[in-house]
Amino acid sequence: MPENSTSQGVVNLLGQSADELRARAECLGEPAYRGSQIYHALYAERRFDLAAFTNLPAAFRKRLAECATVELPRVVQRHSSADGSVRYVLSLGTNGTAQKPATVETVFMPEENRQTICISSQAGCAVDCQFCLTATLGLVRNLTAGEIVGQVLIALDDNRAALKPQTNVVLMGQGEPLLNYEAVMAALRILLDPNAMAISPKHVTLSTSGILPGIERLAKEKVRPKLAISLNASSNEQRNRIMPINKKYPIEDLIDACRRYPLRPWEHITFEYVLLGGFNDAPEDARRLARLVANLRAKVNLIPWNPGDLPYHKPDAERIEEFRRILSEKDVRAFVRYSRGQDVMAACGQLALLEAAAAPSL
Ligand code: SAH
Ligand code: SF4
Repeated sequence: MPENSTSQGVVNLLGQSADELRARAECLGEPAYRGSQIYHALYAERRFDLAAFTNLPAAFRKRLAECATVELPRVVQRHSSADGSVRYVLSLGTNGTAQKPATVETVFMPEENRQTICISSQAGCAVDCQFCLTATLGLVRNLTAGEIVGQVLIALDDNRAALKPQTNVVLMGQGEPLLNYEAVMAALRILLDPNAMAISPKHVTLSTSGILPGIERLAKEKVRPKLAISLNASSNEQRNRIMPINKKYPIEDLIDACRRYPLRPWEHITFEYVLLGGFNDAPEDARRLARLVANLRAKVNLIPWNPGDLPYHKPDAERIEEFRRILSEKDVRAFVRYSRGQDVMAACGQLALLEAAAAPSL
């Protein structure tokens, strides 16, 4: 059975590219442009019921419904934070294949003039960063392109009454996006296509733990998001202890890849640095970090560690401020990013489905 079939043996259109949908239309004896119309209805108009694809003739809609469907991830829980953000727990089907059913999380964060949607690229994660709760799940499975795009569609649809003009998408939920490269890129092409979801590349950020071959591949893509690297340490010795992936792709190789990365005129690389109290938040770390990113078109986001059941500590407020000040004095643009949704375990590194086993259906 093809990868995107549903349990009923019909094809799931969600996640398919314009070319795939055009080929499907032709296969059904229709002109290819009917496929482009499906593409538009699905991703630009965000219609999920084939009967509502009113840009298609009724007879074609009926024939299409016999062999295809639009299957979105299913919302099993919605946790609303006091700060307005919402954490969705989504159940993913098997797509009619031998794939495992899985559960992931998506976070919707409203702001004054925009919304930011944080999506997952894998269920769980194999990278094993010691400070991250997602790591405790291990890798459950890769998400399909449809499951990745579906998270954005669900978050937009569920908040449709209150949407702001600008949508930001960050691949900072569960999973390492560059270890699910094909599906992530297929989803990004749909998110970034002006004829589909039309999100600006300036507003989509892929965050990676530093998977070097993936970064090099991304550098060659015509359509690509902004890049963020989770550095999280100021020396290899330190990074090896919290991010075992550093033994494979050490800091100097990562920084070299960043130097070679072809930035667009408006673009910079973001370095994320999770501040672990007493571990990597000393003034000397700030000075080493400044040296590492010197001469790169870069900015640093300092993320105070969000607690989970792990042996780390939140940094002190004064240490955070001093760290930022040292970076600024050395002309490194640095911002402190307090994660939202901590009260509903929606913050960075807290996505690990603590209640998954007991989740009641909505
Ligand atoms: N796997 C990718 C993207 C998901 S993690 C990556 O690692 O970049 C998104 C961000 O959350 C990363 O920068 C990661 O370092 C950070 N993070 C993980 N656990 C955290 C925690 N407990 N508190 C704060 N940030 C955390
Ligand atoms: Fe995976 Fe990112 Fe968590 Fe590391 S920080 S375990 S790469 S999700």
